[in-house]
Amino acid sequence: MRNFSYRAVEEVGSAVARHTEFSTSAFLAGGTTLIDLIKLDVMRPEQVVDVNRLPLKRIDLLDDGRIRIGALVSNTELAHHPLIRARHPLLSAALLSGASTQLRNMATTAGNLMQRTRCAYFRDPVVSECNKREPGSGCAAATGINRLHAVLGTSEHCVATHPSDMCVALAAIEGTVEVEGPGGKREVALLDFHLLPGDTPQREHALEADELITSVVLAPPLGVAGAHYLKLRDRASYEFALASCGVVLVLDGQRIGQVRIALGGVATKPWRAFEAEASLVGVAPGRECFEQAARLALAHARPLEHNAFKLPLARQAIVRALETALDDARGGMSPPAQSDTDAGSPAGDSP
Ligand code: SF4
Repeated sequence: MRNFSYRAVEEVGSAVARHTEFSTSAFLAGGTTLIDLIKLDVMRPEQVVDVNRLPLKRIDLLDDGRIRIGALVSNTELAHHPLIRARHPLLSAALLSGASTQLRNMATTAGNLMQRTRCAYFRDPVVSECNKREPGSGCAAATGINRLHAVLGTSEHCVATHPSDMCVALAAIEGTVEVEGPGGKREVALLDFHLLPGDTPQREHALEADELITSVVLAPPLGVAGAHYLKLRDRASYEFALASCGVVLVLDGQRIGQVRIALGGVATKPWRAFEAEASLVGVAPGRECFEQAARLALAHARPLEHNAFKLPLARQAIVRALETALDDARGGMSPPAQSDTDAGSPAGDSP
C-alpha cells in the first residue's frame, strides 16, 4: 500500500477544491471499493478526500413526485426507506440482493454508482494486459478466463461486466445524477452516466475531472406497476450476478401499457433492453411474447469462449422476471420483489 495525503472536508465546495490539488485524487465515502483497490495497488491516489462529513445523507420526496437521494445515503438505509419500498420496490430489492449486510451498511449511493469492475485481470496488477488499468496494454480477458465477463456492450478493448445490482434498478427507474465540480453544478441522465468501453475502457462514467456526485434523483414511479428483480448467481447470497433482470410493468386493461427491462451481469454497463420493451407495449402479456422479448434483448450479444451460457441464462431471467412482475401488477400474487433472502454473510469484497 502506497502513502497518500488524507483530507477530511465538511462542505461540497471544499471537497471539490481539495480534489483539484492533486492529479490523482480520490473521494472516499464508504470505501468498500476504493480501499480494496488501493490495497491491491490498482488505484494509486496521491490524495484521498474524505467526504463522509458532507451534508448529503437525506432522502426527500420532491413536489413533482421525484425522490432525491443524497450521495452519502447508505445502501442499507436506501433499501429500507419507506419512500423507496413504497414507490420503487425494484430498487429496494436490487440493493438487498447485493453484497452483505455489513457492506451495505458502509456502501453509499454514489459509491455504488462508481463501483469498479470485478474482472480478475483488472484487479491483479501482476497482469500487464488490461486496457482499463493501463490504456493500450491489451485485454487479458479476451483470450483468458472470461466466464464472468460481458456479452453485451463489449468492444475488442474490454469485455468487463458492470457489477452493480443497484444500478440495474436505477436504469429501469431512470432519473438523473446531480454533480458539482470546478465548473459548477450539472445533471447527467442516469442512462448516460455509465459509458460503454469502446476504445477508451478507462473512461467508465460521465464525470469530468474533479466532479463530485451530490445526489441521485429518481423519476416518479410509472404508475400502479408490478416489479421484480431476479438475480442468478453461482451461490445464493454474497455473490455477483451471472445474469440479473429488473422489470417494472404497468398494465393497461388486459394489455401491457408500459414496461422497463434492465439487465445486469451480462453487460459492460447497466443495460436497458429497449427493443424488448418496445415489442411488449400494447401486447396481451404471456409466455410467448415474453420469450420473444428475451430473444430480442440478447439478439446482439457476443459471447466469449467461456460465457455463452449467459445467453440462455439471461433469456430465462427476463422471462421469469416479466412473469413475476406481471403477477405483481395483477394484484400482488408474487413473492416480494427480490430473488434472495437477506442472509448475513462474511465481510470482505463487495458483490
Ligand atoms: Fe482489463 Fe477490461 Fe480486459 Fe478485464 S476485460 S482485462 S478490465 S480490459
